[in-house]
Amino acid sequence: MSKNLAELDQKHFIHPTSSIQQQQQHGPAYIFEKGDGIYLTDTKGDTYIDAMASLWNVNIGHGRSELGEVAKEQMEKLAFSSAFSTFSHEPAILLAEKIASIAPGSLNAVFFTSGGSESNDTAFKLARHYWKLKGEPERRKIISRKKAYHGVAAASTSATGIPQFWDMAGTFMPDFVHAETPYEKSTAEAIESMRQVIEHEGPETIAAFIAEPVQGAGGVIIPPDDYFQAIRNLCDEYGILFIADEIITGFGRTGKMFGMENWNVQPDLMTFAKGVTSGYIPFGGVVVSDAIHDMLKERSTGTLFHGFTYSGHPTASAVALKNIEILEKENLPANAQKMGERLLEGFKKIRNDTQIIGDVRTIGLLGAVELVKDPAANERFPAELGVAGKAIHALYDHGVICRPVTFDNTDIICFAPPLIINEEQIDTIVEKVHDAVVAVE
Ligand code: PLP
Repeated sequence: MSKNLAELDQKHFIHPTSSIQQQQQHGPAYIFEKGDGIYLTDTKGDTYIDAMASLWNVNIGHGRSELGEVAKEQMEKLAFSSAFSTFSHEPAILLAEKIASIAPGSLNAVFFTSGGSESNDTAFKLARHYWKLKGEPERRKIISRKKAYHGVAAASTSATGIPQFWDMAGTFMPDFVHAETPYEKSTAEAIESMRQVIEHEGPETIAAFIAEPVQGAGGVIIPPDDYFQAIRNLCDEYGILFIADEIITGFGRTGKMFGMENWNVQPDLMTFAKGVTSGYIPFGGVVVSDAIHDMLKERSTGTLFHGFTYSGHPTASAVALKNIEILEKENLPANAQKMGERLLEGFKKIRNDTQIIGDVRTIGLLGAVELVKDPAANERFPAELGVAGKAIHALYDHGVICRPVTFDNTDIICFAPPLIINEEQIDTIVEKVHDAVVAVE
């Protein structure tokens, strides 16, 4: 007889970014055991559309045996060996070359990690190391933005612009500051806020600025078209390095291979994780520009005291290579673009047929539907009503998994389905969103 999984879960499994008390009271509501394409099936035998690609990451969809096969092959050949010091191996070398070839412009050298938070912490250390080598060691500060999510390691928690993440353990580090984000703000207002932060902190103390091309966990905040060029100009004006956090937006999610390509803006460092392996195995990294790599080559004498056991993990590297091959072969960035347009059309249509849908937006297959009390006046619901939470539960009841954003008095439903999704499946999601919204309005 199978074990009582829910009971064991409550007893032994501390869930990430979850309410411990809720888990103790109710146990896990869904225990998934199988994935296929855009679908997940739980232990009760119920099937759901995974309209979040789980955690914005299962880009090529669930159940792709090619990735399992390549992992098995690599595990049997060389599951793991070190990449420290003088040791190397083929999968990591080939993956570094591949990522350099698809990353924008002069981003040509890669440092590997095991996930997104490690990637951002690494980017901050590399940026500070760069300035130290350049003879400006006082450049240590990192500017991030409100509503940003950059992860939960020590430094990435501080770069995250959602204060609840700092409060949990008093983990806010010095040398992190947050400027306004272009949510309900124009490019000019957001840039002015950045300029004020830079001037207030002192440009000579700032190492880098970090931004997600599209803020994900903050509520799928798509910037105005002129925003990132203005950011690039501002960084150049003050000599600040620009880090693009492509952890959600990388590997096809926004309709381009990398999010920044939507605005043709070149970052100095780019972090990635999630979609690089479509979640089949933990992995991530930082790609740096030739200028940064050259500085390391010329002046970083002795050991670079930074490296994870799993930096460049052979099995993960082999899986990433196969995943990227699939993304390219099946033209998944282009499919994301096309399906994202259809999703937006669908959202606009159901906005007319319902009472509480406000702004709707997509860029590729990253999308959001805002729920508001009065769409004409953009008047929000009181936070205590928890409207987005209710809508999400109604969606679960209709067989669709997506994610609410409820902080800062917003009710946003986020969407990020696998990039292999087809027209009929997009239409099903839209229909079910309609039904769920009608159920809560
Ligand atoms: N950066 C962004 C934009 C993210 O969305 C995430 C995770 O959701 C992270 C960083 C952190 O990545 P990880 O959870 O792999 O540490």
